[in-house]
Amino acid sequence: MPRIQPLPQHLISQIAAGEVVERPVSVIKELIENSLDAGARLLEIDITHGGLKQLRVRDDGCGIDAADLPLALARHATSKITTADDLEALHTLGFRGEALPCIAAVSRLKLISRPPEAALAWSLVSNGGDVTSPQPLAHPPGTCVEVTDLFFNLPARRKFLRTAATEFGHIEQLVRQLALATPSVAVRLSHNQRLVVNLPAAPADAAADQILTARHAALLGEDFAAQALALDVHSANAHLHGWIAPATLSRAQGDRQFLFVNGRIVTDRLVNHAVRLAYQDVLPHGRYPAFVLFLELPPRLVDVNVHPSKREVRFREGRQVHDLIVQTITQRLASGRLAGYAPPPS
Ligand code: ADP
Ligand code: MG
Repeated sequence: MPRIQPLPQHLISQIAAGEVVERPVSVIKELIENSLDAGARLLEIDITHGGLKQLRVRDDGCGIDAADLPLALARHATSKITTADDLEALHTLGFRGEALPCIAAVSRLKLISRPPEAALAWSLVSNGGDVTSPQPLAHPPGTCVEVTDLFFNLPARRKFLRTAATEFGHIEQLVRQLALATPSVAVRLSHNQRLVVNLPAAPADAAADQILTARHAALLGEDFAAQALALDVHSANAHLHGWIAPATLSRAQGDRQFLFVNGRIVTDRLVNHAVRLAYQDVLPHGRYPAFVLFLELPPRLVDVNVHPSKREVRFREGRQVHDLIVQTITQRLASGRLAGYAPPPS
């Protein structure tokens, strides 16, 4: 009879990493979320060879205290929650304390960080989870995470990765999507030292619309940016805002549908169903509307702790969310049509 034995720590980490890190874009998602949680106003993302060789995210956020640096790479260590109640009132994208240790377990990772008030930065290097002791170095305030040779110690996983062009395509798409929810953050993405995405931050007061229009145009096309119908409604518990395509702009694929729940990019069947229902009388079967929807709910009404990759949520009051979306979009499409038919002012 086989005996039961505890798994060695590095194997536990590699198994956990499998759920968080599927491919280069999953690394970028986690690193960007950390930068946003740190209050970054500038994100610099540099990719080499589709991320198969290297991925680097630099920010100007709050940094990590030198004493905490090793904890950033320790499993189940986080600065974002301390009690179960905090899970009910989550205001950060991260909370699991798993991403950095998981990424570190399956790559060669370098973490450099300097809080703005510190004179020096400190850096740590991890080789498949074996972490060196921190070293001081000169570096601007903020944090830089550099991930090299992803899955170098998991050859089976590495074989599943696609070409550099495909992997970079996923990264570019994700970066552009996340940029829709963060107009006040400047985002630069380079591939093999070539600048591919360069989105300036919206100034605090004005021109936010222009910035958003530019960010939409890049992701959803010029026609969407020009013709989309804006939404902005409050219900008892929710705030729904964003943009939807008029029926005349439908597509053969549902690939331009972006939903953010409390700033988190997710896919949700309930919301997709609600949108489909709202368009059913104006779109032929097999056509899809583009949309960018932001749903803000009190954190206690959304459970984000569904899957380690945090791409799904559960709504406590799903029925209300569903009805709000159906109603709002139905009305907006109707008023959009009326506006379209109105005679030009004489
Ligand atoms: P989580 O985001 O769930 O807390 P992570 O493993 O992603 O877990 O990060 C661990 C901790 O490292 C975070 O809680 C945070 O304190 C710190 N950290 C990670 N990235 C950054 C960053 N870019 N800026 C500041 N702190 C960071
Ligand atoms: Mg995180």
